[in-house]
Amino acid sequence: MAVKGTGPYNPENIFAKILRGDIPCKKVFENEWVLAFQDIAPKAAVHVLIIPKKPYVSFIDFTKSASEDEISGVMKAAGKIASDLGVDETGYRVITNAGENSGQEVPHFHLHLLGGQPLPPFPV
Ligand code: AMP
Repeated sequence: MAVKGTGPYNPENIFAKILRGDIPCKKVFENEWVLAFQDIAPKAAVHVLIIPKKPYVSFIDFTKSASEDEISGVMKAAGKIASDLGVDETGYRVITNAGENSGQEVPHFHLHLLGGQPLPPFPV
């Protein structure tokens, strides 16, 4: 079996189930490109996960496989979400984990948006 965040997309991962509506989430934002929801185990006062609606396992898979419109749509949505949550004034962090060395748990590409408080020195 492939390391999480590498290899083919597994449609049984937990974010795929959230996208299908099989399990609930605390939705923050949705448009044609992304779904954003609260992390179930928040590491900061603001901890939102931003996921593309289409199936990509990782950042590299996303940048290789997504259309220019989709890459733009996902990044612009992430910026809007950060702005709407008010973290641009106080500061924030956007990270993505990919593959075994990063500790990626869920093999569906996602951005973590962290903020709302002073964050520990990078890396968290
Ligand atoms: P990563 O290690 O980058 O793959 O991060 C996966 C994140 O998904 C972790 O921060 C988890 O707390 C979060 N997570 C796992 N299951 C759920 C869920 N059902 N709803 C919301 N967040 C989740």
